[in-house]
Amino acid sequence: VIDAAFVRRWLSAATNAVDREADRLTELDSAIGDADHGANLRRGFTAASAAVDKAPPDTPGGVLFLVGRQLISTVGGASGPLYGTLLRTAGKELGDGATAAPQELSAALRAGVEGVGRLGGAAPGDKTMLDALIPAVDALASALESGAGLVPALAAARIAANEGAQATVPLQARKGRASYLGPRSVGHQDPGATSAALLVSALCQVAE
Ligand code: ADP
Ligand code: MG
Ligand code: MG
Repeated sequence: VIDAAFVRRWLSAATNAVDREADRLTELDSAIGDADHGANLRRGFTAASAAVDKAPPDTPGGVLFLVGRQLISTVGGASGPLYGTLLRTAGKELGDGATAAPQELSAALRAGVEGVGRLGGAAPGDKTMLDALIPAVDALASALESGAGLVPALAAARIAANEGAQATVPLQARKGRASYLGPRSVGHQDPGATSAALLVSALCQVAE
């Protein structure tokens, strides 16, 4: 069941994953950015976890909204406002229900990803977090639509996110800092697409 506790379990799994992978994310960002992606997310997720522990919202939408707000206010880099918008929008979309159906979570995440697109102006193939996020929400929605349960649907989303992140390697960046490198951004995996796959993977993990 998708309730506040479910989202809090995701937050804790996501915070652990970001902690564990921070060095790899920063390494990816050092190749095509400014070497702070791991540190940015670690700061944001640590602050979000602390805020949720201090004043736990009692709805899944409330937890997502609070996490999003914390990411926006504590992360200086581009990824903070972008992930923050995703989660704040998704939380708002879920409204104040005590539980959410899988289809409602799917629709809320889609709305959040669309918010990222509006805020950052990136399109698919621009070598950004959207290249993992869009395939993930597409896979989640179509699996649920074809009658799959939450666990297999999230597993499909995880695969799609990982493939999307890997598929950023040959792309030339057209948004964010990496775009300043022009053709030299080719041949490296996008840090934000990589962290997006981690966050989707954490969601899959807590549903299992
Ligand atoms: P900064 O680039 O400000 O140092 P981070 O290193 O934390 O911020 O995040 C970089 C990641 O943010 C990129 O790898 C990319 O995935 C994502 N990103 C940057 N600009 C955009 C954008 N306009 N739209 C979507 N994602 C973006
Ligand atoms: Mg950076
Ligand atoms: Mg930076």
